[in-house]
Amino acid sequence: MALRELKVCLLGDTGVGKSSIVWRFVEDSFDPNINPTIGASFMTKTVQYQNELHKFLIWDTAGQERISSCSPFFVLQETFSTLKNWVKELRQHGPPNIVVAIAGNKCDLIDVREVMERDAKDYADSIHAIFVETSAKNAININELFIEISRRIPSTD
Ligand code: GDP
Repeated sequence: MALRELKVCLLGDTGVGKSSIVWRFVEDSFDPNINPTIGASFMTKTVQYQNELHKFLIWDTAGQERISSCSPFFVLQETFSTLKNWVKELRQHGPPNIVVAIAGNKCDLIDVREVMERDAKDYADSIHAIFVETSAKNAININELFIEISRRIPSTD
């Protein structure tokens, strides 16, 4: 079976749920008191999807040096202005054929969700980014998000 390796970097402000998303994806669990020592800064997970193995190499809170070596990116929304700043940073320092995905995390919380529904999808469309509403807490769309990232990255073979 073919194996694809996919480098995913998570970007976003502290508290948006980056570690929780990785923890949900890799361990399928949620720890409300997650801290940086639990959510390691680098984790891997391999999933089978449509007769291929997809090995995700995931960097949490990537620095700028990492931005230039990852192909797909994964941007978490907090507010619109911070989101736009992250995207600007990616365009300046990231590789050219980057896949950007925006996770509107904490969609289990009503007030967060309203903001996302209003604006985020349109913004994501305008920059050709994936947009998925996620909840690390309730396990909503976490696997789907990673699979969608993989689907958007062209095969190198
Ligand atoms: P990070 O700093 O971006 O890595 O964020 P964390 O993963 O540490 O999460 C910050 C806080 O948000 C923690 O208290 C988490 O329990 C909480 N959190 C993360 N994801 C969700 C979610 O999907 N729903 C809710 N309600 N809380 C979440």
